Amino acid sequence: MGKYHGESEERMRSIFEEAKKNAPSVIFIDEIDSIAPKRDEVSGEVEKRVVSQLLTLMDGLNSRGKVVVIAATNRPDSIDGALRRPGRFDREMEIGIPDKKGRYDILRIHTQGMPMEESVDLDYISKVTHGFVGADLQALSKEAAMGALRRIIPEVDLEQDRIPSDTLQKIRITSEDFREALREVRPSALREVLVQVPDVSWDDVGGLAQLKTELQESIEWPLKHTKAFKFVGAEPPHGILLHGPPGTGKTLIAKALAHETNSNFISIKGPALLSKWVGESEKGVREIFRKARQAAPCVIFFDEIDSLTPARGTDTGTHVTENVVSQILSEMDGLEELHDVVVVAATNRPDMIDSALLRPGRFDKVIEVPNPDANGRRQILQIHTKKKPLENIDLEQLVKDTDGFAGADLYSICNAAAMSALRRHVHDNDDVQNILITQKDLTDAIMIHKERLNFESKPKNFA
Ligand code: ADP
Repeated sequence: MGKYHGESEERMRSIFEEAKKNAPSVIFIDEIDSIAPKRDEVSGEVEKRVVSQLLTLMDGLNSRGKVVVIAATNRPDSIDGALRRPGRFDREMEIGIPDKKGRYDILRIHTQGMPMEESVDLDYISKVTHGFVGADLQALSKEAAMGALRRIIPEVDLEQDRIPSDTLQKIRITSEDFREALREVRPSALREVLVQVPDVSWDDVGGLAQLKTELQESIEWPLKHTKAFKFVGAEPPHGILLHGPPGTGKTLIAKALAHETNSNFISIKGPALLSKWVGESEKGVREIFRKARQAAPCVIFFDEIDSLTPARGTDTGTHVTENVVSQILSEMDGLEELHDVVVVAATNRPDMIDSALLRPGRFDKVIEVPNPDANGRRQILQIHTKKKPLENIDLEQLVKDTDGFAGADLYSICNAAAMSALRRHVHDNDDVQNILITQKDLTDAIMIHKERLNFESKPKNFA
């Protein structure tokens, strides 16, 4: 797109025109975040116009037409939200880092046709290439091949413009070449700590009024009223530990905190920290904090922190996790002076947490995030039905019926109810304006959800 900046819109129109003319066709937009960033966050008029043009063009596509638009990005959260609505990009697929089997398949593809010695064990290579993505594996295969080429170069008479075929025949890629290549090529997953800009505000978090106030005072104030804070000699917390059942909004709160303090957001899942940086988790921790300082003000969110810090005395506590924890603690100590990097951790197993984490100067603010009470459920239901077409709904009944539900459960039933209404619409082929979510859609969704929860025997108490 860069090439056509001045005329990007025109160019886009003609691409869509051409695709329609040649249908069936697929339009592939790579790195869509660069042409369709969030409109309220870019200053340039050109970018804004490009986003609107893209929206118009996608809306203009006939749903039964034979043009499909596929876009790719590694920063889904920086894309303008309007593009992610139904009728536009309405399917989202995350293409994760390949697992061992995936890496094996990718290696097979990239070594196809390469003259390899039999001793080269792709199975073994796929085992030791944790965190490598497709491009890294391709680079690895190329690098190994280059190694083999380098070996024969001394035999080649560079005066001649062709390499004799018997010399070529001799090229063999060995497992030693792969070992050498592994030294050169590092996994990109390790290089990359994803910095996001969440757009969740306090209004998107239902209930938990006291918790919001507490966080506003202890985190927002030190950032916004630094002088006053210093003046009265108040000490903001170093780290915050949120604990409570799954799906009660811990992640949501951390994101809202980042958004409300205009901070960047780095989210790390404990188990991923161990597996992604296999053998190098401490380096991972350093990298995370380095990125956070660079991106300050920044909120670092460690989800499922219990996986990193099994309570002492259990034998699951290998020295790997211990080292990771001490690394986190020493990084947090280093933050002492600067309160523009805030560390938030979450767990649903507070009993599993190493008490060393809870000492003063560390995660010294521990906040419980319980399942919502009636008031909280009312607010959460309102949040998740706000943008949905509702018939007359008896909200109070729904609040009563969902005793014991977490926020994530409420989100899920609102969605399920909307799907039921949609199914009816598709079946009757009715006008879009007439789609309405009924009380029955919601109560049915609640019933089904309760059955599922019981089936999964979640430890919840339903009335
Ligand atoms: P946790 O981190 O506690 O496991 P999440 O924050 O990931 O839970 O919650 C998952 C989803 O459930 C959220 O994205 C949101 O849609 C919904 N949700 C959970 N709690 C709330 C809440 N208090 N208010 C509004 N939505 C909520």
